[in-house]
Amino acid sequence: MYKDLEGNTAIVTGASSGIGRAIALRFGQEKMNVIINYLGNEQEVQQMVSEIESYGGKAVGVYGDVTSEEDVSKLVAAAHDHFGSLDVMVNNAGIENEVPSENLSLKDWRKVLDVNLTGTFLGCREAIDYMIEHQIKGRVINISSVHETIPWPHFLHYAASKGGVKMITETLALEFAPKGIRVNNLGPGAIDTPINAAKFSDPEAKKGVESLIPLGYIGRPEEIAAAAAWLASSESSYVTGITLFADGGMTKYPSFQGGHG
Ligand code: NAD
Repeated sequence: MYKDLEGNTAIVTGASSGIGRAIALRFGQEKMNVIINYLGNEQEVQQMVSEIESYGGKAVGVYGDVTSEEDVSKLVAAAHDHFGSLDVMVNNAGIENEVPSENLSLKDWRKVLDVNLTGTFLGCREAIDYMIEHQIKGRVINISSVHETIPWPHFLHYAASKGGVKMITETLALEFAPKGIRVNNLGPGAIDTPINAAKFSDPEAKKGVESLIPLGYIGRPEEIAAAAAWLASSESSYVTGITLFADGGMTKYPSFQGGHG
């Protein structure tokens, strides 16, 4: 636990499932105030609010689509209205779908870019604008992916969006370092969340993915949340503009393991 996070306010987008849910709950354990942005199941969010309160944190669920300027600005307003601050912005909402690139429709391309890239841009812009106005040395954490660097056939739009998120992070880190605002990417590898449910329900497919991970197992959302808490905390005070890969070593050419190649 990071003592300095206690009482800080965070927004987590797409926080009602998977990695976002784990980050919101971890922030609750850190006794933070959390805006739980969701697009789906409100009942689940209410359970999360209760869980966060049981840890000594505070939370409010706010419905909103990260591709809408108005909705994203409402998230920041909710942080201000409920908790009087915004210290940590986690742009986590993301989608993917598998399509061979020669069949990728413009509609699918736009949808994935809209959520993963434009949603991240809007979240960064609104949060940083607030942090500057209130002279807060805030932290922005963008949930990218190993696919900001590993090409991913059949997921062209997804890989392009995450490559874009990397440059959003690096550019904003440079632009706002003089204000003391830190902007970092968190790049998960293969994590056991609903986005992968279909893939991992097939034991052969799951084994195939595991073979790409030097540590040998699919990560848990809590392991990504732990990295997010560190990036949010002052323990990472000298870190900005990086991608912290939490990927079991996936980005380190696992096929060379054991001296192959
Ligand atoms: P998930 O499907 O459980 O979570 C994605 C969340 O985003 C959902 O709660 C969904 O409702 C929300 N969302 C989608 N569109 C939205 C919109 N327009 N506005 C607001 N919310 C929206 O999957 P996850 O694995 O938890 O994914 C979280 C993030 O982690 C994504 O950005 C994903 O690309 C990234 N990621 C996941 C993995 C993995 O293996 N699970 C690996 C690398 C990166």
